[in-house]
Amino acid sequence: MLDTPSNRPELPPEIARRRTFAIISHPDAGKTTLTEKFLLYGGAIQMAGQVRAKGEARRTRSDFMQMEKDRGISVSASAMSFDFKSFRFNLVDTPGHSDFSEDTYRTLTAVDAAVMVIDGAKGVESQTQKLFEVCRLRDLPILTFCNKMDRESRDTFDIIDEIQENLAIDVTPASWPIGVGRDFLGCYDMLHDRLELMDRADRNKVAESVSINGLDDPKLDELIPANLLEKLREEVEMARELLPTFDRQALLEGTMTPIWFGSAINSFGVKELMDGIGSYGPEPQPQQADPRQIAPEETKVAGFVFKVQANMDPKHRDRVAFVRMASGHFKRGMKLTHVRTKKPMAISNPVLFLASDRELAEEAWAGDIIGIPNHGQLRIGDTLTEGEVLRAKGIPSFAPELLQGVRAGDPMKAKHLEKALMQFAEEGAAKVFKPSIGSGFIVGVVGALQFEVLGSRIELEYGLPVRFEASQFTSARWVHGDRLAVEKFVNANKQHISYDHDGDVVYLTRLQWDIDRVERDYPDITLSATKEMM
Ligand code: GDP
Repeated sequence: MLDTPSNRPELPPEIARRRTFAIISHPDAGKTTLTEKFLLYGGAIQMAGQVRAKGEARRTRSDFMQMEKDRGISVSASAMSFDFKSFRFNLVDTPGHSDFSEDTYRTLTAVDAAVMVIDGAKGVESQTQKLFEVCRLRDLPILTFCNKMDRESRDTFDIIDEIQENLAIDVTPASWPIGVGRDFLGCYDMLHDRLELMDRADRNKVAESVSINGLDDPKLDELIPANLLEKLREEVEMARELLPTFDRQALLEGTMTPIWFGSAINSFGVKELMDGIGSYGPEPQPQQADPRQIAPEETKVAGFVFKVQANMDPKHRDRVAFVRMASGHFKRGMKLTHVRTKKPMAISNPVLFLASDRELAEEAWAGDIIGIPNHGQLRIGDTLTEGEVLRAKGIPSFAPELLQGVRAGDPMKAKHLEKALMQFAEEGAAKVFKPSIGSGFIVGVVGALQFEVLGSRIELEYGLPVRFEASQFTSARWVHGDRLAVEKFVNANKQHISYDHDGDVVYLTRLQWDIDRVERDYPDITLSATKEMM
């Protein structure tokens, strides 16, 4: 049963065994604990606790990181690879804070599925809901883990109803909890007719699995107290009657989510979830690109940058571009074409984020995430190929919702400031606009906290104290149209015009009324709130 046949038989086995996914959750639901257990079963770490310990060591490195810690947020996202049974898992970490939704959105363009973790006592919380909606935009398959069943939790049917109603997705129970809180014994595996019993004494022990012959098996009377067994039989019967049965196609299309119940901290239910990701989760999927889509089984290598991170090592000015391999079999040292600049790039020291440590990647297959250290050539949305001109689609840049002017504390350092701002714009950490009239820059972000992060990073990484000040503008829109129409529009609206870091024309305003007016008065011009990054 576990080795579900691939529904994409054309994939080479090395690609077919890859599962690339992210975890979405509300803070405190148990994402870190679950990640840790994944790595434990993936053999990547020896002891639970290392992810956190490693995270903390990393965070003490700088004041900026200190801020992350104080705020309890994680600004730096990363990717981790590990093996589980016959599968290779690539887990891409999503930044947890709602202020970083744009970054999160782009991270989710690099995965084929998401694991949604909810707290059994709290159900669907605000951040989960937001992230779910982002997944929905791409119809990403979602597997659900209901955590903390060792605590007082809600009624199982209520939890399932809440997900179905709030998220408008069919929910099918992959497992059914037996007892709750202090009485939580384990789960009945609805997909394999097995009993999984939790060991409270040893938190890192894999649950004991007992094969049974359906719910009438007399063995059950020995293993489960009579009152819980009666309840289990009733509930499972009801669940089978009322809830949809598992349908892999519906999972892959994003219209159904299977839910596992467990307790990450007790290592319970985690292995079953991992089995589920492996057996039912999607193989690497085709990537949308211009002028044609890229299929993972193509023999030529292609990949796209979905994230750029500067200063992973503060001693170096290097950046790491995170690349999702879209097709082929990449080998270290390969020369790829950087499509935007049409220049060849020898990829000599790519990094694979093996959970235990960063490691040189000798090879990578479609579905994998590799890090490419570079000096700024690689930008978000860039595509690397073996020569063909292909551009990854669907990695958008959103119009910022908050705008502020920014100045260097020392006016002599304006040039330095420009350089710093350009770096952050390329990284996707902020939008930077140069007004066509006057001096200075306007910085745009999606969440207010990003101003602070930006301010501390510019000070820390460039030794440049900066001042943010109120801007007369509140909205930014990219201007599209043919060259003459745009020129005419720019000349007539100079005080509203600025240029982004790519030199594209942006219309800044304070009033929705202005935007409506432009749309009315300039039929040849379109104003848009997103721009595909390339
Ligand atoms: P994150 O913010 O989503 O990464 O959540 P963490 O993994 O840091 O977990 C938040 C808190 O919940 C921590 O104190 C964990 O020890 C605790 N926790 C995680 N999983 C469980 C669980 O299964 N049962 C209980 N009782 N606590 C848990």
